[in-house]
Amino acid sequence: MSELRRGFKAWCERAAAGYRRDLGLRPEDALNPLRLAGLLSVLVITPEVLTGLSASAAQHLCVTDADSWSAVTLIEGSKQLVILNPSHSTARKNSDLAHELSHIILEHKPTQVFLGLNDALLIREFDRTQEAEAECLSSVMLVPRDALLALVPINDDEIAAQQLGVSTQLFRMRRNVSGVERQLARRW
Ligand SMILES: [Zn+2]
Repeated sequence: MSELRRGFKAWCERAAAGYRRDLGLRPEDALNPLRLAGLLSVLVITPEVLTGLSASAAQHLCVTDADSWSAVTLIEGSKQLVILNPSHSTARKNSDLAHELSHIILEHKPTQVFLGLNDALLIREFDRTQEAEAECLSSVMLVPRDALLALVPINDDEIAAQQLGVSTQLFRMRRNVSGVERQLARRW
């Protein structure tokens, strides 16, 4: 995480709190990234509904090569679309979509752009710093400090993760890096 600039994590917590407030969520509520996409006017689609994508390409993305990709952002004029791989678990889809939306929120400029369908741009590559930033923002939006403070004292990691719609692994990562254990220990 050395790629992150000073103060970035704190900025993520504030940004996450703002978006979660706009969505009417309590700290312990799951953030559904589909609702966040709606708030950002970003359309989320699965490959099957993409016009211009051949049946064999859709089949390839959804079935044959389904494990190898998560989500792709497509820019069509002023519109931004995220193509989400529908074949993964809900927790994985939530984190994949939150990750793509984080790139959009942070106005990241991709290092490599592929010409996609119908003159739209398919974005695939970001630099390491941008990837680290998107990873940080998305994980904080899904598991903010306030959620950890509310859930860690009363729930097992598995149950808390389920409540937030994330993997236990992501919940534990946030629990470990956020420093909430220390903060909670001081309360006793
Ligand atoms: Zn990324």
